Amino acid sequence: MNLTLTGVGVSRGIAIGHAYLLAPEQPEINEYVLPKHLVNEEVARFKAALAAAKQQLKSIRNQIPRGTPASIAAFIETHVLMLEDAAFADAPVKLIKTQQCNAEWALQQQRDMLVSVFEAMNDPYLRTRKDDVDHVVNRIQRILANQPAHPLELSDHRLKGAIIVAGDLSPADLLLIEHCGATGFITEGGGPTSHTAILARGLGIPAIVGVAHALRQISHDTLIAIDGQRGEVLTEPDPLSLQRLRAKRREEKRHVVTLARLSKKPSITEDGRVITLRANVELPEDIHTIKRAGAAGIGLYRTEFLFMNRKDSPSEEEQFLAYTQAAKAMKGMPVTIRTLDLGADKTLHNEHWHISSRPPSPLGLRAIRLCLKEPALFRPQLRAILRASVYGQLRMMIPMLSSLQELFQVLEVVEDVKRELKAQGLKYNENIPIGGMIEVPSAALAAEAFARHLDFLSIGTNDLIQYTLATDRIDDAVNYLYDPLHPAVLRLIEMTIKAGHKAGIPVAMCGEMAGDPRYTRLLLGMGLTEFSTPPAMLLEVKSIIQSSRLARLTKMTRKILASYHSGEIAVLIDKINAAEKRGRG
Ligand code: PEP
Ligand code: MG
Repeated sequence: MNLTLTGVGVSRGIAIGHAYLLAPEQPEINEYVLPKHLVNEEVARFKAALAAAKQQLKSIRNQIPRGTPASIAAFIETHVLMLEDAAFADAPVKLIKTQQCNAEWALQQQRDMLVSVFEAMNDPYLRTRKDDVDHVVNRIQRILANQPAHPLELSDHRLKGAIIVAGDLSPADLLLIEHCGATGFITEGGGPTSHTAILARGLGIPAIVGVAHALRQISHDTLIAIDGQRGEVLTEPDPLSLQRLRAKRREEKRHVVTLARLSKKPSITEDGRVITLRANVELPEDIHTIKRAGAAGIGLYRTEFLFMNRKDSPSEEEQFLAYTQAAKAMKGMPVTIRTLDLGADKTLHNEHWHISSRPPSPLGLRAIRLCLKEPALFRPQLRAILRASVYGQLRMMIPMLSSLQELFQVLEVVEDVKRELKAQGLKYNENIPIGGMIEVPSAALAAEAFARHLDFLSIGTNDLIQYTLATDRIDDAVNYLYDPLHPAVLRLIEMTIKAGHKAGIPVAMCGEMAGDPRYTRLLLGMGLTEFSTPPAMLLEVKSIIQSSRLARLTKMTRKILASYHSGEIAVLIDKINAAEKRGRG
């Protein structure tokens, strides 16, 4: 039957192949009480299953093809480590002994406990880690039930060229999918920040998650086609759709090759305007990618990763080292270190700094508010940034400023830290540029005043949109309201750009909007001359810059800014994009 199903595209690309259904194979879990004399035997059965699970994972790890990024092997390693952790190695054993219950039931109780802990977490990334618990538990339960290994692990030859349809897939499954030559996957569950989605993007496997009832709606062996960018699944596509998708696939392949050639080319519009193109760094590994892509520096270095998933805070020395490394790696190009932006969805798992009795809120003690309240958190970071500033072109950027008073307070602390370093005979760049993120509507409305006291501005659209539209950026119940093209958002962006021009300081944009090719021409037309994009989007944005004529875009954008209707704005943007493409061709 010809159907179109939709989900969330998490890894772009077109895949066409036969559906290979992986029905959930979680065996039924029964509870029973054991006679006392069989308890030790049950413990031994559980331990043997644990050892077998570890063996299976190790053998998968050994099959990882050469040249696979180290981070991918790390996913498997995480599951091996989980099996060795007391949560799996000891806790179920204790339950078997104390409750005299069967191994399956003990493991299930432990699973439920662990999953409830993860589900209670506010950090969306950590919340999805419950998937890892399920993947590990399912593996052990299958072994306890004497079920044959997962079809993926049997390297079924029918997997070659197939598209996997599953309830959920673990990162280990995904490696096997790649090993068996499957070309894509769709799952009923999962989210864009799950390990499996991250891995699919890293491996370049087209993938769609969250396709409701996929296992019921797609039959085994039928031909399906998936578009990982649009999040679209076509079952038994007609010849015309197939032709269209194949053409799109060819086009995408050509596009990737063409883009790679742009890394050494300048970022300049057709009519000669140089546009600064930098990248966002979320993890230290990103620095290699952005250097390869030819970024003109780091426009946003998120320092939160240094503080996450640990019990203590990184010392001044550890931070100094990280910032120095970034400064040196970028060889004299600007490296914009953003001071700590914790709070809201980025909570610290560090009891020491959990200072608010309220649940974290995007409107609460977040980012610079938290730093100003906690000098013992803020000052070591400022010292580290200042000390590292002599090793390259480091800049400091303050997130979530909402009032001038707050900015003055920050500037005072920075001056005080400088005096302290001077007194200690430690070197720093006296003139380190200090910039502010404009991501709260009050800051955008007062951008002119901020611009008079700062060296640069950077528009954080992720938050600017959330705060302007009162739409929590991580709440999927309201994400239909999250609209970068909302006229109010566009006006605030425009005000900020103009304020920077008036004060004669640079204005960049580092929110996701800067890396979305649909908006590049609009932003150019609005006068934006500095973009900081996610590493993977840099060349895509550069290619659009190179094929744009600023003079024409400026004129076309005026119409957009005069409109109060997102729908109309979206149509006009499509027109701008199409017109420029035609102009190029
Ligand atoms: C933003 O808000 O646009 C931004 C870049 O910061 P973050 O996504 O880290 O909040
Ligand atoms: Mg932000």
